[in-house]
Amino acid sequence: MERNCNFNDISDGKLYNSEDMARLGCNDCKGCSSCCQKVGNTIVLDPYDIMRMSSGTGLAPSELIGSHVELNVVDGIILPNLKMAGTEEKCTFLNAEGRCSIHDIRPGICRLFPLGRIYEDGGFKYFLQKDECKVANRSKVKISKWLGIKELPKYEKYINEWHYFLKDTEAELKNYDETVSKNMSMYILKEFYLKEYTMDNFYPDFYERLAKARAMF
Ligand code: SF4
Ligand code: SF4
Repeated sequence: MERNCNFNDISDGKLYNSEDMARLGCNDCKGCSSCCQKVGNTIVLDPYDIMRMSSGTGLAPSELIGSHVELNVVDGIILPNLKMAGTEEKCTFLNAEGRCSIHDIRPGICRLFPLGRIYEDGGFKYFLQKDECKVANRSKVKISKWLGIKELPKYEKYINEWHYFLKDTEAELKNYDETVSKNMSMYILKEFYLKEYTMDNFYPDFYERLAKARAMF
């Protein structure tokens, strides 16, 4: 999800790579779960998120949608996001102790926070959203450790490809009427999110589907 704001207003003014250190350490979020509630539809999920959540919870992608995940239009494309439920608008994975019940398989945006990504020139850098986490005196942590994602270079390449595919598709959809746009959006949903990936073969499967979608769009 794109944000239109001044980079210097929301960040510490620096751009980071995954091997850089940033002031992220928040004492394991002890006693705080503010990132997991009342965040609307901002925790948008990518295909890798859904694949991991599906294999970790045992719920098929179609079962996740409706129970823990909902669909919304993001920049013209129908995409899944974590659902906030109940009067307190909490993520459905937040347990009674205020901890994440799917910590090991939590989505990429949950891992990233309070970092963000800024995309330019076909790639991206990380930046620190300086006012988002209220913990004072945060310690320095290496970004790769903070993210805790297996095979991080492969993941970063994938997340970059996914971002630019969505951007290109968003631009392309503006050339079509509502019915065609909706059909293209539904294709993305079915092909990248609902169709299951071969076990331990996410990236090859993803790139095969990406090449097909790019040829089609
Ligand atoms: S605001 Fe900071 S401490 Fe609280 S849940 Fe978010 S990252 Fe953790
Ligand atoms: S998946 Fe976990 S970390 Fe992410 S919002 Fe839900 S409870 Fe919080």
